[in-house]
Amino acid sequence: MQTEFKAILFDIDGVLEFQGQAYPGAPELLDFLRRKGIIIRILTNSTLKSRKHCVAKLTQRGFHVRQEEVITASYATAKYLKTLKPKSCWVMLNGKGIEEFEGLHFDPDSPEYIVVGDYREGFNFDNMNKALKLLLTGSKLIVMIPEKVDHSLGSVELTVGAYGKMLEDAAGIKATWIGKPNKYIFEVTLDTLTVDRKNVLMVGDRVATDIIGAKAAGIKSVLVKTGEFKESDLNGDVQPDYVFDAVREIEKFF
Ligand SMILES: [Mg+2]
Repeated sequence: MQTEFKAILFDIDGVLEFQGQAYPGAPELLDFLRRKGIIIRILTNSTLKSRKHCVAKLTQRGFHVRQEEVITASYATAKYLKTLKPKSCWVMLNGKGIEEFEGLHFDPDSPEYIVVGDYREGFNFDNMNKALKLLLTGSKLIVMIPEKVDHSLGSVELTVGAYGKMLEDAAGIKATWIGKPNKYIFEVTLDTLTVDRKNVLMVGDRVATDIIGAKAAGIKSVLVKTGEFKESDLNGDVQPDYVFDAVREIEKFF
């Protein structure tokens, strides 16, 4: 197989690793691509993790990755928010992802923007109701990712998108959604590359986020049959350009 790909964007969960363990050959694949001069970006809808924290986790699992190669949903959201030059914000997020918002003025009582990430126990009646009242009196809503349920911690739990949608519907407003498959996280990522988008490839395990997002951004995609992949994904309206059994097969392109 001959290729024009000069940059590859990798999802993490279900592609490079699963439940805290690297897939066989995945760390070696990144090293191989670097030797070939391919630009690597790691593109994850994680909100809890900062880029630094993501690099630390990936390093523990044997990957060689630098912070500037990682785009988390929290980083992309902070980057987008900074372009709006907000007077103030309330970032509903627990975890190290909050580090990405450094430099912004936090004012949870009178925010120009409410930003919804993974707030964990913070998603309680008082905070949700407070957010609703603020939205009804003019605060604007940004939601970091669309996923409504998360299976990554073993059992099923409600996550960011469910709370974002609840606030959007209750307040009767439209939020700006940042993470995959939305355009913002892809634009933030593509802005860090010096290559044309026809030379960029996205590798993911979910059609709904990775593949649909890649298509909308005008880049080619690989769906890997690992992680959250289901055979029924291959019957939908949106299809990836390539389907591989595992991420290490990316080597075939080179
Ligand atoms: Mg995934």
